[in-house]
Amino acid sequence: MSEYTKILLEEDEMPTQWYNIVADLPEPPPPALHPGTHQPATAEDFAPLFPMALVEQEVSTERYIDIPGDVLDVYRLWRPSPLFRARRLEKLLDTPAKIFYKYEGVSPAGSHKPNTAVPQVWYNAQEGIRKLTTETGAGQWGSSLAFACAQFGLECEIWQVAASYLAKPHRRTMMEIWGGKVHPSPSDVTEFGRKLLAENPDHPGSLGIAISEAVSEAIEDETVRYALGSVLNHVLLHQTIIGEEALLQLAKVGETPDVLVGCTGGGSNFGGLAFPFLREKLAGKMSPVIRCVEPSACPTLTKGEYRYDFGDTAGLTPLMKMHTLGHGFIPEPIHAGGLRYHGMAPLVSHVYELGLVEAIAVPQLECFAGAVKFARSEGIVPAPEPTHAIAAAIREALACKESGEEKTILTALCGHGHLDLASYDRYMRGEMQDLELSDDLIKAAMLDVPEIA
Ligand SMILES: *Cc1c(COP(=O)(O)O)cnc(C)c1O
Repeated sequence: MSEYTKILLEEDEMPTQWYNIVADLPEPPPPALHPGTHQPATAEDFAPLFPMALVEQEVSTERYIDIPGDVLDVYRLWRPSPLFRARRLEKLLDTPAKIFYKYEGVSPAGSHKPNTAVPQVWYNAQEGIRKLTTETGAGQWGSSLAFACAQFGLECEIWQVAASYLAKPHRRTMMEIWGGKVHPSPSDVTEFGRKLLAENPDHPGSLGIAISEAVSEAIEDETVRYALGSVLNHVLLHQTIIGEEALLQLAKVGETPDVLVGCTGGGSNFGGLAFPFLREKLAGKMSPVIRCVEPSACPTLTKGEYRYDFGDTAGLTPLMKMHTLGHGFIPEPIHAGGLRYHGMAPLVSHVYELGLVEAIAVPQLECFAGAVKFARSEGIVPAPEPTHAIAAAIREALACKESGEEKTILTALCGHGHLDLASYDRYMRGEMQDLELSDDLIKAAMLDVPEIA
């Protein structure tokens, strides 16, 4: 097995349980709060938004949760996903480090998002829900949910951030192929959207605004629920299939990671890869450094405050304790649309506060430079979001070149960039800039964050 390139699992080797990190943390994460009373949110508070099974997963302290058989059946369309050894990138960088990447671009939607879209739709279908509403930034989540709804016969209505609706028309086409109905956000469909459009007819939108629109449509109808593609505990839970598979795959070649890096938008692909490894680390079985990588233009963990804030711009969602730049913060229109979110998964924020993981921010030019190196050596064109993880892996590999250390680096290549070529085009033509962020902008957005002791 000396010259293997990818490590595969058979279908019957696919894990059949998701892993819940809450069971193994030294301190429980702070609870979500009701947006009005600021008391810990109850199951009834979540009920207009999510089916009961997902509300239960959201607050569960069980270590393992069985993946339903119907979900495993759909997973088998693309899972187990391959783990690659990036030998060609290692050679290009002339590094003694070993680089592994878990490739999630093999899913129908081209990213890790279907790992949670499929179970979310299935649980809704079990509870008789007719339609799901959601938001999408880059279009990855919207297409994943539309695909999953098509699998189980639910309707799907999607609010796509206006800037990306215009920039990524092909993502919209994918959503429509799978039967989704797509609005640009802000839209004239909701009251909140109409208000924002009256203020600015060319409003670029944001994930926070699109969430407000999708939520407001779901809470008005008993047969409609909302689905979120990141941030929440149950989403990170579903994504742990990534890390569970990667553990088995690395074991096949006798490797354990010294460094694990993942890009963080809302934190789901990072949590999905990292939490099973964090379990092993907490149990003393390995000791990888685990690092979140975020964009410099939306530096939630590295520059945000750890406070209770809303998940959406209008303040409709429960309050979550997380690193936040302020729910009114509109990030610069960087190309990694999936990383343009003002907050962070409460579980990722919690493990960061506990000092169990690190975080760095990387500017987009460095990310695209790394992505082009990656594509020219490994072949796959990465989505703009995981270029952050690639840039961080390259930094680490080059540090190994300096020091001579033979570290094992693991990352997730959480999506391909076939529908993001306009971004690459800008980069290749030298038209891309780094969008730095003024501290004043963050300060201003933080003023609207509720004061909660
Ligand atoms: C949505 C998305 C992200 C950001 O979401 P996380 O919850 O942080 O994973 C990153 N990469 C890709 C390819 C995405 O589609």
